[in-house]
Amino acid sequence: MSHDKERDKKRERPAEDGFALMPGWAVETLHDDFRQALRVGKPIYDSNTDHQRLRVFENPTFGRVLTLDDVIQTTEGDEFIYHEMMSHVPILAHGAATEVLVIGGGDGGMAREVLRHRTVERVTMVEIDAEVVAFARKYLPRLSRGAFDDPRLDLVIADGARFVAGTERRFDVIIVDSTDPIGPGEALFTARFYADARRCLKEGGILVTQNGVPFLQGEELTRTMRAFKRLFTDWSCYLATIPTYAGGPMAFGWGTDGVARSVPLDVLRARFAASGIETRYYTPEVHKAAFALPAYVRKLMP
Ligand code: SAM
Repeated sequence: MSHDKERDKKRERPAEDGFALMPGWAVETLHDDFRQALRVGKPIYDSNTDHQRLRVFENPTFGRVLTLDDVIQTTEGDEFIYHEMMSHVPILAHGAATEVLVIGGGDGGMAREVLRHRTVERVTMVEIDAEVVAFARKYLPRLSRGAFDDPRLDLVIADGARFVAGTERRFDVIIVDSTDPIGPGEALFTARFYADARRCLKEGGILVTQNGVPFLQGEELTRTMRAFKRLFTDWSCYLATIPTYAGGPMAFGWGTDGVARSVPLDVLRARFAASGIETRYYTPEVHKAAFALPAYVRKLMP
């Protein structure tokens, strides 16, 4: 049987229940040939929303863990790396962002980090699954830390792809904090979505996207970069390693028609100091270095 047929045959197999494979462990079933497992210290929640299967459990090392359709979305232990790098890099590079759009981000971590910037006047968060928000408020309060009650947050329950296709609003920074391109997340990895998102950017605006772990999801990054190459004068990705997004560093797509990527280090340092934000991962030096891509990632650029 050809390799493709073999692979399609595997994909036809109903997704194994990650929790059934190793009782007492949550086995992530995102990749066909690579799995990671986290011990389920204490199950907290397990239900099906209209969109996806939602679970939370306690892990001794990572604290509370959120999975959607058996894919790890975020953990209390390492979420700071992801949320700091997806928010402070575009906002500090931009330098004068007042309107920020977060697509996805149902756990509230991204909104929390964006709202730490006093210069941001409004965060519009477009999340498809109201249950993720309701549930995150109740079971993952240490992630959102009051973000959902911030008067600057405008929470919209809708499909992010439909929102950017139809809104007249314009934004300085758009952050796509989506699931992987499966289920409802698939719509957020299309060329059409990226074109609509670009249309929603103000002059000099920046689009950043959660683009998976290139070592295991390289073709996803290449597809996104192919679309960004057509849409933006400055397109690339930057990297950060989040332990529970297993398989090496994660890529964040970067697209803009402005010059934000080349902002000098001393300007970044001054903006970061002026923000008064204390971080656990982000530094201006890490910001600049994150755009230095290893050869295997550069090879994925179209
Ligand atoms: N940090 C995680 C990651 O890297 O996979 C993502 C976290 S956040 C929980 C992902 C959110 O995207 C979920 O709340 C999910 O409901 C939301 N989502 C998925 N597809 C969406 C869509 N088409 N429009 C809006 N939100 C969507």
